[in-house]
Amino acid sequence: MIMDLHNHTVYSYDGQNSPEQIIENAIENGVDVIGITDHQFSIGRRMGEYIKKLSDCREKYSGRIRVLLGLEIGTRPRPDDLFTQDIRGLDYVLFESLDDYRAMDFFEFASWRHRFDCPVGLAHCDIFKMGEMYGVDMPRVLKKENIFWELNTSGNYSCYYDFLTNRKKRDALRSAGVGVSVGSDTHALYEYRHPQLVRANELLESEGFLKPFNIFK
Ligand SMILES: [Zn+2]
Repeated sequence: MIMDLHNHTVYSYDGQNSPEQIIENAIENGVDVIGITDHQFSIGRRMGEYIKKLSDCREKYSGRIRVLLGLEIGTRPRPDDLFTQDIRGLDYVLFESLDDYRAMDFFEFASWRHRFDCPVGLAHCDIFKMGEMYGVDMPRVLKKENIFWELNTSGNYSCYYDFLTNRKKRDALRSAGVGVSVGSDTHALYEYRHPQLVRANELLESEGFLKPFNIFK
């Protein structure tokens, strides 16, 4: 089974394709579960329209691919305006770049994120670097806080190669029981990197990693 839980559409300032184009490309490439995760700050006041559009897509493509309604939330700085928006109906949210020095404090985030009643994950975030920054065993903290981690295959983040080549880190994450998702972080279909997506999914499958949440419900 192939999941791709990080994709951008024209609802993001840096997304170039429609949700339908992203989903149809995924179907053509044999993806089983596709998540659309546009930037919360780009969607702005169109949140209701965004959720409705993705719900319609879920319906339209049902039986061919499972469509999940996601959102990517910036943390540099803390997105205080988020709670003025109605985000009911989302399947999950991703918080990005919490390992950045400009990001909100991780433990502040860990208590704040309980305001969300959907699963929460960390997008393209080097959790081992964060563990050093905060002096904690980050895989254990994520498990305790029920936060999943994304393996981002876009090639823009060194934590992807680090994960592929560092068995000790993979073992630490797996033995802590942290859910791991895979996301291509596609912003335009011409840059879609399918082999990396497959490779990441196969690695997680073969080493027995937990899926991020019940994505086959
Ligand atoms: Zn993204």
